[in-house]
Amino acid sequence: MKNLIIGGAGFLGSHLCDALLNRGDEVICIDNFITGSAKNIEHLRDNRNFHFIEADIIALDIEKLNLPFSADIIFHLASPASPKDYVRFPLETLKVNSIGTEKCLNLALKLGAKFLFTSTSEVYGDPLESPQKETYWGNVNPVGPRSMYDEGKRYAEALIMTYHRIYRIKTYIPRIFNTYGPRMRLDDGRVIPNFIFQALNKKPLTIYGDGKQTRSFCYVDDLIKGLLLLVETDYHMPVNIGNPGEFTIIELANKINDITGSNLPFEFLPPVVDDPRKRRPDISLAKKLLGWTPAVKLEEGLRKTFEFYTETGQ
Ligand code: UDP
Repeated sequence: MKNLIIGGAGFLGSHLCDALLNRGDEVICIDNFITGSAKNIEHLRDNRNFHFIEADIIALDIEKLNLPFSADIIFHLASPASPKDYVRFPLETLKVNSIGTEKCLNLALKLGAKFLFTSTSEVYGDPLESPQKETYWGNVNPVGPRSMYDEGKRYAEALIMTYHRIYRIKTYIPRIFNTYGPRMRLDDGRVIPNFIFQALNKKPLTIYGDGKQTRSFCYVDDLIKGLLLLVETDYHMPVNIGNPGEFTIIELANKINDITGSNLPFEFLPPVVDDPRKRRPDISLAKKLLGWTPAVKLEEGLRKTFEFYTETGQ
């Protein structure tokens, strides 16, 4: 298979590049490095099946781009994805999910390629139902401080569904729940990299609000397997990909202390505006459709992630 990965130097994108190259595919990776990093793809530089183009798809006339080969599938993963990053790059976040998605869809149409877009559990907002099923329409503040991300992703889903209906293009909309693993930027502001950074530097673990809010954390390898199974199907409606194990932030902080052998105190900070209180995927659809279920338990995934940072000194 020939793959074009937009946002391929990011956390998820670089793991997707690895998985595709490991199975013998060819990969063209495009990234503008606003939140991705050259370091994430450095190890692929000499791989003759890997091609890199530094470009911003918002500004680019992507259809005129001189690609080394035509792609069978386009993966659009390009977007700031942590609350800290999308607040830092609000317009870029809106544009890459709206204008960027439209450009990728037009390219997919021109090439006759399949198209996968990484959507998010944020389309459910601060959910009034838990666990969240794909059929839940969500509870999103359309003008709040997270709206550039949530509404950007919701607009993209609507656009993709419209292209699918009008042009019969093969599209995929995985809704990704909190994912973690090696290569997350330790300054990206998300809870696991923050806690790992704090554990490495013997600082208190920062907890926003009362710490009783929940998240469900999926190890990156499980997530990538889910995406690759999804594109083998003909299913075009959204599919939750996440780990249903649900933990409060305090439980997560305790696990970080356990696996790093520390006893760091907690520093309670003011709550984040519009912070979802609960988040947990219902993955019945992914199980039935893909035969997929996450295999890596939180302790094991945290241990592997922590090892990555201690071993690489990043
Ligand atoms: N959080 C926290 N301490 C931190 C970073 C995050 O308590 O140092 C909380 C945050 O308020 C949220 C949860 O952890 O309730 C997950 O936040 P993250 O930014 O990782 O992802 P989100 O699911 O909010 O996009």
